[in-house]
Amino acid sequence: MNKAIEVLKKYYGYDNFRDGQDEIIDHILSGRDVLTIMPTGGGKSLCYQIPAMIMDGTAIVVSPLISLMKDQVDTLQQMGIPAAFINSSLAFSESQRIFEEAKRGEYKLLYVAPERLESEGFTELIRSIKISMVAVDEAHCVSRWGHDFRPSYLRIKNLRSLSEDHPVLAAFTATATSEVKEDIIDLIGLEGPYEITTGFDRENLKFEVVRVKEKLSYILKYVSEHKGKAGIIYCLTRKLTEQVCSELVRAGFNAIQYHAGLGDVQRSKNQDDFLFDNAEIMVATNAFGMGIDKLDIRYVIHYNMPQNIEAYYQEAGRAGRDGEPSECILLFSPQDIVMNNFLIDNGTTDGIGRTKEYDKLQDMISYCNTDKCLRKYLINYFDSDYDREECNNCGNCLNEIESRDITIEAQKILSCIYRMGGKFGSNLVIDVLRGSNGQRIRSLNFHKLSTYGIMKDCSKDFLREIISYMIAEGYIHVSRDQYPVLSISPDGAMVLKGKQQVTIRKVLSEKRKFAETTNTHTEYNRNLFEELRALRKGIADQLRLPPFVVFS
Ligand code: ADP
Ligand code: MG
Ligand code: ZN
Repeated sequence: MNKAIEVLKKYYGYDNFRDGQDEIIDHILSGRDVLTIMPTGGGKSLCYQIPAMIMDGTAIVVSPLISLMKDQVDTLQQMGIPAAFINSSLAFSESQRIFEEAKRGEYKLLYVAPERLESEGFTELIRSIKISMVAVDEAHCVSRWGHDFRPSYLRIKNLRSLSEDHPVLAAFTATATSEVKEDIIDLIGLEGPYEITTGFDRENLKFEVVRVKEKLSYILKYVSEHKGKAGIIYCLTRKLTEQVCSELVRAGFNAIQYHAGLGDVQRSKNQDDFLFDNAEIMVATNAFGMGIDKLDIRYVIHYNMPQNIEAYYQEAGRAGRDGEPSECILLFSPQDIVMNNFLIDNGTTDGIGRTKEYDKLQDMISYCNTDKCLRKYLINYFDSDYDREECNNCGNCLNEIESRDITIEAQKILSCIYRMGGKFGSNLVIDVLRGSNGQRIRSLNFHKLSTYGIMKDCSKDFLREIISYMIAEGYIHVSRDQYPVLSISPDGAMVLKGKQQVTIRKVLSEKRKFAETTNTHTEYNRNLFEELRALRKGIADQLRLPPFVVFS
């Protein structure tokens, strides 16, 4: 029997390799550098652990996260494999001891944080023992195009040259875009690597995008229907993380939080509480999760749209690593676009890097707006093929979408924005449309506009929803300022001129039931349609649009 499968059965207790694992292990054992792209939960760790156990000498595993190292080393030790880690969490005397033992070649695997690579002690260690291989986990951290850039990853490149053995180099990541791939090969210094991308599909995950006005109510409802199950709620900012967490706690849920603003001690305590089931819900920024080894996470909800698909797929992919049905829900609102734009504007990149970030954000927005299969969209994004048109396990495949023509409503709104000079935010636009009697409206003379009060029968929420939709669909442009201002986009101008129709797509009902409790958010959408229907009856006569509008 093949040695690798023997180790798999004996130490891990699994019967078969998953897609790609045996191939990767074989190549490493034959001395070929490897670049593995495998989705989160695909089983990357085993691909370097098994060769490390088979080969002579010590394998160096470079890994970015302290908690991850500890988990993996604990697991290996429980299996009887001599393994250790060196990072900043160790006391000096302890790392001395590990260095001594490492120098005697006692470990099969030695995990190190990238920051350690250039220390004199470490260099000396590499020179003095036999190194079997160098494995780089979360290898996308070497790239600025990835989402977790860690400058110290750039130090890995020299590692191989320090050792006389010219050990084989194997890099692992879940991020598959071509820029990141090229960076990994270049910056880590893989030589003629065997590249493998394993299936990106995670069949047990149900993807869904939900446009919902009251995100918090949605979440409260969702978590109460999923009591006793572990879930993560990702928020874009610390402040939102704190808010959502305290609302959940106030409502009696067992929720904790995780973000960079908490001290180290509190962070690792909260992480452990979640890992060991003392807390059910983890509310976190994207600081939480890389390498988290919790298999039974039943849902990952994004309170905000993340900045790009790479980050989304990685975070959502933390659900259901045990292969059981799990849900990945993205709560989308146009406000998320404004927030992400703000973050990019105030971020560290500039020039072409920033342009690229905007492009990636646009792909993320398209994901939220598409009416096609979400799984297919994600898989195609990573340059992989998906051989079906419908997966039958995503919001868009399972829900029936009804379209309504809202061109007339859209024209009223656009013409109001136009008449207000494209200089005001949505609140004031809504007030003018509804004919509100505010001080500000009087002082700006907006009560004299012909669009003043043309939608007075509509509720604020209703108008907000339609405006949000028009923003998301690109008919209305939102400035990237502290006080975002609405103006008409080129597409919006086409609508005003009557040359383009606007239809709103809404989820009506589920084609078929997925799990017991997924049908939670259709009611709101139904209300919206009721309101539209009523509106249609009442407004036919009171249309006073600007003179240049040509009706078709
Ligand atoms: P990744 O690092 O790719 O996110 P991990 O290495 O943490 O994934 O593995 C995810 C889970 O899958 C782990 O619980 C692991 O034990 C399990 N796993 C890996 N390979 C196999 C296999 N061949 N058969 C069954 N389970 C596996
Ligand atoms: Mg991993
Ligand atoms: Zn689908």
